[in-house]
Amino acid sequence: MWNYNFVIPGFLILLILLVYYLSRPQIMIRVNRVFVFLLTAESLVIILDLISSKADESFEMFSSNALYMLNTFYFVFFLVRIYLFYLLTSNVVGAETDKSYVRKTAEAIVVIISEVIAVSSYYTGAVFRITEAGYQSGPLYNILYFCSLFYILLSLVVLFRFRAKLSQYELISAGAYNLILLAGTVIRFIMPQILVMNLFCLMAILIIYLTFQNPDLYSSDRGPSFNRRAFRTTLDEVRITQPFRLLCFVLRSYSEEREIYGYHQMDQGIKLISEYLAELCEEEQIFYLRNGCFAIMGSDQMEWDAIQQDISQRFQRPWMADEADLFLDVSFVRISSRSGYDDTDTIINRLLTAFYETGKRSSSGNMIDLDEIHDLDRQVDVKRELEKAIEENSVEIFLQPLIECDSGTMCGAEVLARIRNSEGRILSPGIFIPIAEQNGQINRLGSQVFEKACRFISEGKLAATGLQWVNVNLSPIQCMNRDLSDQFTEILDRYGVDAKYIHLEITEASMIDLSLLQKQIQTLQENGFRFALDDYGTGYSNLTRVKHYPFINIKLDMEVVWDYYKERDALLPAIIKAFKQLNFSVTAEGIETEEMGKVMKAAGCDYLQGYYFSKPLPADEFVAKYSV
Ligand code: C2E
Ligand code: MG
Ligand code: MG
Repeated sequence: MWNYNFVIPGFLILLILLVYYLSRPQIMIRVNRVFVFLLTAESLVIILDLISSKADESFEMFSSNALYMLNTFYFVFFLVRIYLFYLLTSNVVGAETDKSYVRKTAEAIVVIISEVIAVSSYYTGAVFRITEAGYQSGPLYNILYFCSLFYILLSLVVLFRFRAKLSQYELISAGAYNLILLAGTVIRFIMPQILVMNLFCLMAILIIYLTFQNPDLYSSDRGPSFNRRAFRTTLDEVRITQPFRLLCFVLRSYSEEREIYGYHQMDQGIKLISEYLAELCEEEQIFYLRNGCFAIMGSDQMEWDAIQQDISQRFQRPWMADEADLFLDVSFVRISSRSGYDDTDTIINRLLTAFYETGKRSSSGNMIDLDEIHDLDRQVDVKRELEKAIEENSVEIFLQPLIECDSGTMCGAEVLARIRNSEGRILSPGIFIPIAEQNGQINRLGSQVFEKACRFISEGKLAATGLQWVNVNLSPIQCMNRDLSDQFTEILDRYGVDAKYIHLEITEASMIDLSLLQKQIQTLQENGFRFALDDYGTGYSNLTRVKHYPFINIKLDMEVVWDYYKERDALLPAIIKAFKQLNFSVTAEGIETEEMGKVMKAAGCDYLQGYYFSKPLPADEFVAKYSV
């Protein structure tokens, strides 16, 4: 009486899918759990369908209780399956995350009532009965169809409501598998004896697998980690449903390292790091977000201090790729649910800004804790604050002393730009300078800083604090501005300041267009300015190129200073010596302890700058502190 043609092959296909799916790592989100339940329910339905139909055919061989049990289980899982299909659709569009329990229960009420009716058939015979003539449908048998249609229609409504959350391809797929379920239900209604409903469900499951659940969509192609899409999806859910901690790190100077070691080697490095992390953090989920950025997501119990320490230690040793030992360095960024960010984009944006910040240049072990640093506002906010400060002429200048090694006294100071945001917090130039450089406002910002430095001098504060000069930073973009010299000279004239009191700091990044820079420097020099080379040792330092410029001072980047302090070698003193033979004086930045100052003095430096002497101070405070 039953036609089994479709049952066995369908079951085998399902089995392959189940084994394949479960053998791959999964991100821990609800939709994945629902999918596993669905696969399980589907398997059970197929098996129970087969067994109960066979048993119903030869009912004489079974007790009526056994027949009741088999059929009841079949109906129970049949109904569960249809509900799971709905749950899956609802999860896929993200409609489940912030649903209340009342709402969830209300939606489940139809399946709950149907289950009760099906299970009570033993007493009522509502859905089916076992009589002397065997299995018979009951008067409420059609509740199966009602329940199926109800959840399929509900799925279609949800899909329509949340259609904006899916791509066109995903929307078509989701619509298609729901229509296939609808078709299966209708065909089962018309020809119940063909047992074809399972096949339709299987088709739906295949579509779900290919569109939403394929593990390849979420796994990173470099090692046992998940990708950026997985990160966003997981965060989308975790952010709302449970407290979390995120420990992230970025490989410093990733793009430069990639050029040095080669793409292939670097990819291998990423793979090795992923493997290491997977072993280190068994409880947590590892994501590789591209460009050397990793994220480790765990519960709020995650021991991130210990993990961070392990990772830092591991990075002291090289990673052995096929053809090279990769020496890599990392900076960390932390963020947790404690900060109560209101959407995933904000979290990701903050992470990216922080990655940019710490990855660019900083000391090893350096870390940004996003929970604490609210200054790292979204780029949009920074942009707004920046625009406002420039418009209102409210960019402030801070000063940091430059100490002469021989006498141990302050001889100069570096002028550093600061912006105060609407809440009175100070934004650091590491955040707003790159933005100002990107959108061209750096020229206005630069002249504002320069003008404020001139005002400082014209008000006699140089003499009052015993400074011989101040250093003002010039961005590479400013160096490309042909009117720069005229602008600066005009400001000098306005304040009646002599250019000899101002040393301009430029970085090697300015040395891209050499002919323009040379001309620029020449004009400014003719107008009396002096030049210092800032951040020597970052990027591609080139001694021969430096030789052709009329610098009076070379500032060693603090990273170079720290590296040397950690591990002395003969190279840095030799470079310093070479600079001095070329008549450049040398400054060491980032001096944080007395000992560091001594070491750098012994290495041949003429000037020292750093927190040991003073942090950058607002101009007024600087004057108050150093007035003689
Ligand atoms: P920079 O010119 O190399 O300035 C030195 C930076 O090192 C300053 O950071 C200073 O606060 C920090 N620093 C000094 N001593 C220590 C120390 O002992 N330990 C540590 N950890 N840091 C120390 P700041 O003020 O955040 O400035 C960052 C960068 O932003 C500057 O690097 C400079 O490149 C740029 N910048 C600042 N003001 C201006 C400006 O007016 N115009 C332009 N174009 N760039 C600016
Ligand atoms: Mg500087
Ligand atoms: Mg510097």
